[in-house]
Amino acid sequence: MAKYIFVTGGVTSSLGKGIISASLAKLLQARGLRVTIQKFDPYINVDPGTLNPYEHGECYVTEDGAETDLDLGHYERFLNTPTSQANNVTTGRIYQTVIERERAGAFLGKTVQVIPHITDEIKRRATLLEKGHDYDIIITEIGGTVGDIESLPYLEAIRQLRWDLGKENCVSIHLTLIPYLKAARELKTKPTQHSVKELLQAGIQPDILVCRTEYPLPRELRAKLALFCNVDEKSVIEAIDAETIYDVPLLMLKENLDKTVLKKLGMKNMPEPDLVNWKEFLGKLKNPTREVTIGLVGKYNELQDAYKSIHEAFLHAGAENECKVRVVPLHSETLDASEAKIKLAGLDGILVAPGFGERGIAGKLEAIRYVRENKIPFFGICLGMQCAVVEFCRNVLGIDGADSTEVNPDTLEPVIDLMPDQKKITAKGGTMRLGAYACKLSKNSLSHKAYGKTEIWERHRHRYEFNNQYLEVMERAGMIATGKNPDSGLVEIVELKDHPYFVGVQFHPELKSTVENPHPLFVSFIRAALKDGKIK
Ligand code: GLN
Repeated sequence: MAKYIFVTGGVTSSLGKGIISASLAKLLQARGLRVTIQKFDPYINVDPGTLNPYEHGECYVTEDGAETDLDLGHYERFLNTPTSQANNVTTGRIYQTVIERERAGAFLGKTVQVIPHITDEIKRRATLLEKGHDYDIIITEIGGTVGDIESLPYLEAIRQLRWDLGKENCVSIHLTLIPYLKAARELKTKPTQHSVKELLQAGIQPDILVCRTEYPLPRELRAKLALFCNVDEKSVIEAIDAETIYDVPLLMLKENLDKTVLKKLGMKNMPEPDLVNWKEFLGKLKNPTREVTIGLVGKYNELQDAYKSIHEAFLHAGAENECKVRVVPLHSETLDASEAKIKLAGLDGILVAPGFGERGIAGKLEAIRYVRENKIPFFGICLGMQCAVVEFCRNVLGIDGADSTEVNPDTLEPVIDLMPDQKKITAKGGTMRLGAYACKLSKNSLSHKAYGKTEIWERHRHRYEFNNQYLEVMERAGMIATGKNPDSGLVEIVELKDHPYFVGVQFHPELKSTVENPHPLFVSFIRAALKDGKIK
């Protein structure tokens, strides 16, 4: 039977529950344990696929095609193991299941209620990962903040689970904030005391407090927190602001978070964590010998979280190349031809980001034209690849009006178009081409050299595709489809001949980049931006 760790958050959102959970999981995994993490989100959307990135940041996609919270990206990047649909549950999904069962008559005339029906479904989902897997530890992160109305059924379910599973098999970690009051020059514990009170009201006594803080927590303060919150002093863990999220596992190790958890779970004589690879990565990340500047052309640049996985993939690829990747956000909505010249001239490479809808397309096309003509390394992802095709068809092949039907449904030259099976779909949730698909690479292409193999699997999230009717003319003019789906023939990668590095991909490579396996295309793009490794 697996042991369970529940992670709740107090005082404010954005304290980094995902990073703390992933860091703890990393430490436990480094001790040889099989660990997974799941995220429960209290909102009513069935999944985050229909959410604008401004709401909760990017939508992460798993191998099995689930559209999930971006925290699952952290879990995969830290643990280097894939997650699935079962690792992300929302209130919407819980209610959907219960209501469908009610319609099917499964409750035999009973009144369907939050307790026990919704809480039972939460408990069923919370323990679902155990089936068919051999996990030693399952970490469950509860989204939102204790005290929110939406969190209540989850807290009640955790309270019950501690009885169902046995208290010795569960640990409850509360992540909280210790604010620093500048005027008083003091760290304050009161918000944490209140937050723990709130948890106690829900029947949960936290076993461990993880305290986010800008300054070190003095001994007296730890003692005070322990006293007021009914935990032992060793269970008050300092989580000081870190230079990078990848420092957090080591900071947690120093604070003995993993040891404390194992002790509470009665897991004795565990080997010390083996973090050799992790430390090697950190060493390279923090001691770059070179630097590249990459323009990130997108329309959600105001919010870092909107391109989370891309930013992280750049960090991994930078470390791999022992170089610092400086990412300059370029807003596609304001980028016109003259601005493109000024803003893109000094860059070592540009990445054109994924996206939806017409807004910002013109700027993406200008950026691509500039880097294509000026031989600056280019990497286009999903919409970025589709824009590269449109730009090439218009400006190289002279096909006036070449467009994606997403942008202009009436275009006479639909170089990017809906797949026939997408045309009849009207519902938005979960209906895109989602998850991992195979792709065959052409020998000696840039992509083949980057991956070092000819068959790859990459994750998708899009409705529109390259229109194969244009393939022949396009290839004759020098834009080559170097990656194709072996079953459907759909174009997955385009590359330009006579260009130092011009790669557009229909899939999302950023979703598969991890600390241990930096993504080959990001690594090769950065290498190209470094001008084949020459020190600048
Ligand atoms: N909007 C485009 C499509 O649906 C691209 C999607 C994306 O960039 N993820 O095909």
